[in-house]
Order: sequence, then C-alpha cells, then structure tokens
Amino acid sequence: VKSVMDNGKVTLDDIYISVKTSRKFHESRLDPIVKTWFKLAKKQTYFFTDGDDDKLNETTEGHVINTHCGHTKTRPHLSCKMGTEFDTYLASGKKWWCRFDDDNYVNPPRMVHLVNGYNWTQDICIGKLSVPLFATYYHGHIEKYKFAHGGAGCCISRPLALKMKPWCGREKLVVTTRETHMNDDCALGFIITNRLKIYITITDLLHSTREKLKNLNPDTLHEQVSLGQALGNTVNLNKVKSSKIFNHDVDPTRFMTLHCFLFPTADICKT
Ligand code: UDP
Repeated sequence: VKSVMDNGKVTLDDIYISVKTSRKFHESRLDPIVKTWFKLAKKQTYFFTDGDDDKLNETTEGHVINTHCGHTKTRPHLSCKMGTEFDTYLASGKKWWCRFDDDNYVNPPRMVHLVNGYNWTQDICIGKLSVPLFATYYHGHIEKYKFAHGGAGCCISRPLALKMKPWCGREKLVVTTRETHMNDDCALGFIITNRLKIYITITDLLHSTREKLKNLNPDTLHEQVSLGQALGNTVNLNKVKSSKIFNHDVDPTRFMTLHCFLFPTADICKT
C-alpha cells in the first residue's frame, strides 16, 4: 500500500511554501497576501523576514520567521534569508519546496496541479527561465549556468534539494553568492544547472514583474500559478467578472479583486 501511495498525487500538505520578505514590506506587500491566497495555504506557508511583527505573527498564526539576516537588499542578507528558507524546508520533511517573493499572488490549487505534472521523487526544479544562458567566474574557471527568475517563484523536489545542500544552507548560500558574484536566485540556478547538471523544467505559469502583466490574456488567469505586482504593473482585471471589484486605493496590488475573481466565495468577497 505504501508504494502505491508514494506514487500517488501530492496534495497541498506535501508542499512547503516560503515567501521572502522584509519588515519594510509587511504592510504594503504582505497585507494583500494574508487577506487573499495565504488563506488557502495557511498551514503550508511561512514568511521569512528580518524584523519582528507581533500583529502579523498573530494574523498568520505564528507563520512569520525572523531570520535575523539583516534588512538590506544586499547579497549576504538576501542569500542568508533564502538559505534559511532552504534549511527550514529541509527540516519540514515535505516533498516539494515552492518559494516566492512577497510581490507574488500564488494560486495554491494551481500550484498543486503544476507539481503533480512531475514526479517528486526525481530531481526537479520547475521555474520560469530568466535568460537563455549565463556565465560566471567560479574558483578560477568560467562556468555556464541557467536560472529560474526568483521573482516568478519556483518549485524544487526534495531529492534535488538534498543534493543542493553543499552549496545552499543559511551559511553556505552566502558563500556561494559571494564566490559566484551572483544574486540568490541566480545562485540556486548555478547550483542546480552547473554543479548538479540538472535541467530546469520550464513553465509558463509563473509570472514576475519583469513581464508586462497587463498583457496577460485574462482568459488564462485561472490557470496561472503565480502573478507579480508592482506600481504600474498589475494584472488587467477590467474585462473579467470578479465577484467583487475593489477600487485601487483599497486594492492597489489588485490581489483582492483577482482573488474574488478566482475564488468568488472567499470571505473578503462578501459585501
Ligand atoms: N527583499 C528583501 N530585502 C530588501 C529588499 C527586497 O528581503 O531589502 C526581498 C523582497 O521582499 C522580495 C525580493 O527580495 O521578496 C525581491 O525584492 P523586490 O521585488 O523589491 O525587487 P526586484 O525583484 O524588483 O529586484
């Protein structure tokens, strides 16, 4: 029975979801997340930040982790944070690690559907490829690598994560980003595609703010796994029939209106 179950479909509970954030973004970026998609993955999602926030800790029922990594947008601080996400994922024992930035709307049922297209017992990294091919100096050699853009999110299977350990924990990722002169998302790609020689599984269902989000076909919104948001770059919901349309001052990210389109029965959609 066990082997049959192991080959079966994974559920949300088999996924550890981490979101990288910073204290300065708790109000502007985490509030819209906590009000929307977090409610569909409350038990599985953890926020990795750099400062304490009792209020957020209460609303998320203790799912805020202060990494004490430092609060700047520098490689040592950001890679310490991602390395801490990695360590905490490994400790969770889950089958998949899906990680996102704090400007992402994530559709949890679609994320489950996405990972179920692959076998979690193999070495899999599902992401949105950033650039065709990159090269860097590492230990005196030119090394080529590819990477999945961190701003779009990615999902990594447990066997692959275990193989990434020599380069990827809280301390090790800081070293890797320093030695490769790379940001944390590039470093993940370097570890996977260069050190471990594993291809990134490319999907078109993850969307960062590098894309012009208003150009995304509204008919495909219900299929997407992640959607970014930034000032002046949000999904275009003018043509969709959301069960509740919030105006831009209460919903600048458009996450609430999007959420009521995708999940019309959610609490926030009731008038
Ligand atoms: N971030 C952080 N500390 C900072 C700045 C950014 O932890 O000082 C995180 C932020 O919360 C987000 C990710 O890094 O999850 C990317 O940040 P942002 O979207 O602002 O930058 P971009 O992707 O536009 O370079």
